Amino acid sequence: MTGDSNIETVRRDLEAEASMHGLKSVLGVAPFREVHDGLLPVQRTKLREIAGERFDSFMEGGSFISIAFAYPEEAIDAIAVEIGGGFDLDTWRFYSDWYDRLNQALNETSSAMAERIGGISIPATAAGIATKIEHVEEYYPLVVSHRVAAELSGVGWRGKNGLIVNPRYSCAIRLASIITDMPLERTEPLQDGCEGCTACLDACPFLANKDRLENYREQCRRYIVSLGLEHEVCGKCIKACYRESAHGDAFRL
Ligand code: SF4
Ligand code: SF4
Repeated sequence: MTGDSNIETVRRDLEAEASMHGLKSVLGVAPFREVHDGLLPVQRTKLREIAGERFDSFMEGGSFISIAFAYPEEAIDAIAVEIGGGFDLDTWRFYSDWYDRLNQALNETSSAMAERIGGISIPATAAGIATKIEHVEEYYPLVVSHRVAAELSGVGWRGKNGLIVNPRYSCAIRLASIITDMPLERTEPLQDGCEGCTACLDACPFLANKDRLENYREQCRRYIVSLGLEHEVCGKCIKACYRESAHGDAFRL
């Protein structure tokens, strides 16, 4: 496949994969170089390692395809349900299981799509890391940020919770990427839609104090580890965005 119009072919391919998994999807495309330049230096090194000998060809005219699958509504509603002065962890596990299901579906999809277009898949997540590291900064060199690609390709805007907020699915999405040397037509970044909303900040003390904390993501990691859910998640800031944000009715899973 070559040429700009092939983005529609890629989009149809993603939709077919999503429907096989019974999921809803979003696709965005950004220039490879732009995503590379938007990454932290340690993640640029990781990207170069993933691209291998094709790195220069990707940098010359290649594309970063950002793919997202949305959670079902019932998974988001299972997050942080209050019970007897605490949280119902059994219910919360339903969301944790969906996190894993979406990651697996994304990994299968990005591999299959990459194979069909001669690209390279970058899986959804490096799972099981939060408990193995001492500080969140140890995580950065191990991954390439899908959020940078999703933001630059307009899958969503960067929310105040640091997540990618899609105009339809809020931040109740998981991301993976495919890199290719095909020069696909890009999809444009979105304008910041958070405006005066503070729902995610109101739901999480670490987010509310992120400007005062050295790195709120470390407090987030520790909280996630303390919850002890099987797949290293919390998600309160996702539920707040979907259920409590100023966008209210616009979000629909
Ligand atoms: S995942 Fe939980 S702890 Fe982390 S920022 Fe969101 S609400 Fe806060
Ligand atoms: S809850 Fe509101 S402020 Fe936070 S990411 Fe969603 S829209 Fe933005």
